[in-house]
Amino acid sequence: MLDRKDFSLYASAITKWIADYFQQLEQLPVKSAVKPGEIYQQIPAHIPAEGEPIPDMLKDLSDIILPGITHWQHPNFHAYFPANSSVESVYAEMLTAALGVQGMIWETSPAAAELEERMMEWLRDAMGLPSNWEGVIQDTASSATLVALLTAREKATDFQSNETGTPGHLRVYCSTQTHSSIEKGVKIAGIGRRNLIKIPVDEQLAMQAEALEAQIRADLQAGLQPCCVVSAIGTTGTLAVDPIKEISRICQEYDIWHHVDAAYAGSALLLPEYQWMGEGIAQADSFVFNPHKWLFTNFDCTAYYVKDPGILVRTLDILPEYLRTATRGQVNDYRDWGIPLGRRFRALKLWFVMRSYGLNGMQEKLRHHIQLNRAFAEGVEQHADFELLMPPFLNATCFRYAPQGLPPQYLDELNESLLQRVNSSGEAYLTHTKIGNTYTLRMVIGQTYVEERHVKKTWALLQGLAEQCKKGAHT
Ligand SMILES: *Cc1c(COP(=O)(O)O)cnc(C)c1O
Repeated sequence: MLDRKDFSLYASAITKWIADYFQQLEQLPVKSAVKPGEIYQQIPAHIPAEGEPIPDMLKDLSDIILPGITHWQHPNFHAYFPANSSVESVYAEMLTAALGVQGMIWETSPAAAELEERMMEWLRDAMGLPSNWEGVIQDTASSATLVALLTAREKATDFQSNETGTPGHLRVYCSTQTHSSIEKGVKIAGIGRRNLIKIPVDEQLAMQAEALEAQIRADLQAGLQPCCVVSAIGTTGTLAVDPIKEISRICQEYDIWHHVDAAYAGSALLLPEYQWMGEGIAQADSFVFNPHKWLFTNFDCTAYYVKDPGILVRTLDILPEYLRTATRGQVNDYRDWGIPLGRRFRALKLWFVMRSYGLNGMQEKLRHHIQLNRAFAEGVEQHADFELLMPPFLNATCFRYAPQGLPPQYLDELNESLLQRVNSSGEAYLTHTKIGNTYTLRMVIGQTYVEERHVKKTWALLQGLAEQCKKGAHT
């Protein structure tokens, strides 16, 4: 058991552990290969009766825990969307832990609240979001979307759902491609999954605005109450961009809350050449994106913006006696801007990352990833036995192995086995999606320190293992 004054005893051993980890990261298997229960079995069943020394824990960290880690910061991590980090973010996270702030209200750490306000402004302005919007850091996009749904619900019911419960006739709309967090939010908000209507998409897998409007009209006819549309800038499967401007127009016409989910692709709004994705966003009501995905800031850190913070606060505020403060009303008490009362000091890592990179540095990295993806997609396109299933967009490519002469009905299975071989090789990690019914491989190039050589390595691996799979399919 250590005392505060003992901090420096092992601090350098810990930072050395981290530095060594960063050094050897590329040699480690990207995806952990442990079997279910393998780690659990190695952890004693009870709290040790007597305290143990820190060096023992560091040893077990290396021996027991590390094999069970999937290395999200490995440059050949191309799965899901990245949850990337950076040296600066790790520094700040260490300091955040040292300060140990619980920033539920302004008075519990004015600096945490005010730095957060500034960081949200920095991002808002650099991304071309309306300058009168206000932002708050949340733990995840899922929470932020839940908050948007709750706010929409209160607005639609004149703040009566908070009093008497949610009526059963509210309707929420998203596309068939939208993230599962919308459905989860609708369930938690008491709106009910059956009241979430999934609008069909076009060939680019973007929401069809006419179909949305037709559905809203039909619902109104049927005596239902449209409450919220959740559109997407960058769907999870294929990075499709819904027509934000047209959806905003419809929402304004029918007085419906418009929440924009840009959890992943939102980072690209920092690039002027991608700000077209947000066209019409000024007419939306709320917007979420995750710096913890593609902005070099380690999980968790979600930026949530609203046009009218008054409605948000009215939806969520609570004021027990112990939280009454003299400064209420003059400052932002962020506990009223999200679900949990307690809040980490997440603004610090954004501050470190944005200051150390500068806007130019962040833009350079994003563009570099986009460029690497273009080169990867070109390779796929030019290869006789591979094909693109969507045009590459931002830093993601949807593709599959389709060797000439093999009947199409074998392709799903072939690609599934290719993916499995790639991932169990430990050399790279990719995941899949379905486009229609087609099994689709997804390559995402967004790890902070990824370079051309890493992408080339993954591409060579894919080609080599694909050959093996083809031979397997023939025998
Ligand atoms: C990742 C993602 C989410 C969920 O993000 P969390 O922060 O993990 O809740 C929601 N929407 C989209 C489009 C995403 O890509």
